[in-house]
Amino acid sequence: MEAIIKQHRAGDGMIAAVDIGGTKIAVGMVDDNGRVLARSQAPTDPERGYRSALDRITAMLQEAARAAGCQIGGIGIGSTGPVDPLTGEFGNVNFFPSWEGENPVRDLAGRFPVAVAMENDADAAALGEAAWGAGKDKPRLIYVTVGTGIGAGLVFDGELYRGVDQAHPEIGHHLVDPSGPPCSCGFHGCWESLAAGPALVEWFRANAPPGNPAGAPLTAKQVCQLARNGDALARQAVEHEVRYLGLGLANLVTLFAPDAIVLGGSMMKSADLFLPGVRNLIRQCCHYVPFDKTELRLASLGEEANLIGAARVWHHRFQNKGPSRA
Ligand SMILES: [Zn+2]
Repeated sequence: MEAIIKQHRAGDGMIAAVDIGGTKIAVGMVDDNGRVLARSQAPTDPERGYRSALDRITAMLQEAARAAGCQIGGIGIGSTGPVDPLTGEFGNVNFFPSWEGENPVRDLAGRFPVAVAMENDADAAALGEAAWGAGKDKPRLIYVTVGTGIGAGLVFDGELYRGVDQAHPEIGHHLVDPSGPPCSCGFHGCWESLAAGPALVEWFRANAPPGNPAGAPLTAKQVCQLARNGDALARQAVEHEVRYLGLGLANLVTLFAPDAIVLGGSMMKSADLFLPGVRNLIRQCCHYVPFDKTELRLASLGEEANLIGAARVWHHRFQNKGPSRA
């Protein structure tokens, strides 16, 4: 391990990043400034089995290293969860339940002679934004990604916050309205069930008058576009989104009084529709903390945030604190 870290620091190797998502796996070589030098991706195809995915990741890593013209000095993985960050095992992941108990950290370390580390993908992106992105100068940082679900990672003074037994806190499933819609976790009214992209679409569909062409299948992006075009119902859907996105963010401001909340994910491509209202709501809700000092910022690592974050997982685990850090 010592040798690997020295080799990396000498510039002989670069960190290879692996982002394992429900639909695609991306890999890339990421330099010490968080820049992606070579990348490729393939469908996750979970039904082809874990070994097939592992073979594809191995081939893509070798190809990425060749394309970047460097050796692999370490491997960082961000994966849709739940994952055990210390053992490297997959839990019962929604998108690939049959992979439960498989261990890409152990298996990639068996195929490449380097140290490997894995985190939940929201935690990985949080580490990336904290080190190289919008959270760089913010010691108490919460990263929130809003897309088909809501994920979050907390980085305080450069350290990823972990719960008991190294658990990743599930902020997307904090309760916002117990009378709210059913959630994937089995409960009702979690933040994710009210404010992720599908919730916006569902609200719009449920409230569209019968026969309204807007009742046809839509995406959150399309609802936002309709709102921009002045569609009254879409504007109400956006107001609904502002309320529930804002309530969850206000809760985070009150609970943690962070320096910044960095917002990423596909929904934030329409952030200009949401953030003015969200800021108003925070102003109304968060009287007992200095809410005006908490900055709401957009993530700055863009489409590659998860991949860059995956590389940062390696640095966070092995370089910041030395190889003995659990
Ligand atoms: Zn839930």
